[in-house]
Amino acid sequence: MAEKKLCFIGAGNMTRSITTGLVSNGYPATLIHATNPSAPKLEALQQTLKITTSHDNLAAAKEADVIILSVKPHFMQDVCEQLASLDLSDKLIITIAAGIPAKRYRDYFGQEIKLIRTMPNTPTQIGVGMTGLYAGDEISSEQKSICEQLMLSGGEVVWVEHESELDQVIALAGSSPAYFFLFMEAMIDNAKASGMDELKARQLVQQAALGAAQMVKQNPELSTAQLRANVTSKGGTTAQAVAALEAGNIRGIVKQAMDDCVARAQEMA
Ligand code: NAD
Repeated sequence: MAEKKLCFIGAGNMTRSITTGLVSNGYPATLIHATNPSAPKLEALQQTLKITTSHDNLAAAKEADVIILSVKPHFMQDVCEQLASLDLSDKLIITIAAGIPAKRYRDYFGQEIKLIRTMPNTPTQIGVGMTGLYAGDEISSEQKSICEQLMLSGGEVVWVEHESELDQVIALAGSSPAYFFLFMEAMIDNAKASGMDELKARQLVQQAALGAAQMVKQNPELSTAQLRANVTSKGGTTAQAVAALEAGNIRGIVKQAMDDCVARAQEMA
C-alpha cells in the first residue's frame, strides 16, 4: 500500500487491533495517529506501538490522508460534526461503525466526502476476522485498495456491490460468532449435565469447531452439504444426531435468526 498518513478517531478495541496488525506488518508507526479523550488508552497504544496519539481529533484529522472513524455509533454524529469544519475533499474516510448508512455521514459532514463503510466482526481483534466492505462509485480503485489493506490486518475482507448487502454481512459474519458460541455453549452444557468436566468439554468442542471451519476453508470445491455427507455414515451416530437437528427444524431456526438480524440492522439504520 502506498504509505498514507492515517488517523484513527476513537482509539479503542478496534483501533488497537487494526493498528497492531498494521505495525506488525511493517506499516510505519510514524504515519499512524490515534485519538481518544482517555489518556490511559492512548498511553498503552503509544508505548506498545510507538504511534502518535492525542486528544485532538481536529488537528489529527487535518494532517491525515485517511481518517478511520472508530467510535461507537452513538458518538458518530458529534465526531463528524466536529470534523466538518475541515476541507475533506482530498481525504478518504473509512467508518467501521455498525448501522449508520453512508448518506447519514454526508448529512453529518455537510459536504461531499469519499466514504467507505466497513463491517468488521469481533474476531478481527485476534486477526481472524471477516470484514464486509462497501464503496460507492465515487471511490477510486486506489482508495479501495488502501481500505482493503487496512482491514486485511484483522483477517479477511469481502466487497459487496450494494450498501444494503451490508445487512447480510451482519447476519452472516458480523453477528454470527455469537451463533457459534451459542451452539458450543449448548454442547458444553449438555456434556456437563452428563458429568463431564467443563474444561475438557470445552476443549473437545472448540477443536471440533475449529476443525470443521478449517475443512470448509481447505476444500472450496466441496459444498458444506457434501462435507457433512462425507462424515455421516448411514445408520451411524452422526446420522442420528443430524436427524435430531433437522427434526428440531435447525434450518428454520437459523433462517429466523438471520432474518431477525437483518430486520434489526435495518431498524437501526
Ligand atoms: P471502543 O469503545 O473500544 O472504542 C471506541 C473509543 O472511542 C473509546 O475508547 C472512546 O473513549 C473513544 N471515543 C468516544 N468519543 C470520542 C471522541 N469524541 N473522540 C475520540 N474518541 C472518542 O469500541 P470498539 O469496540 O473499538 O468499536 C469501535 C467501532 O467499531 C464501533 O462503532 C463499533 O460498532 C464498531 N465495531 C466493533 C466491533 C468489535 O469487534 N469491537 C465489530 C464490528 C464493528
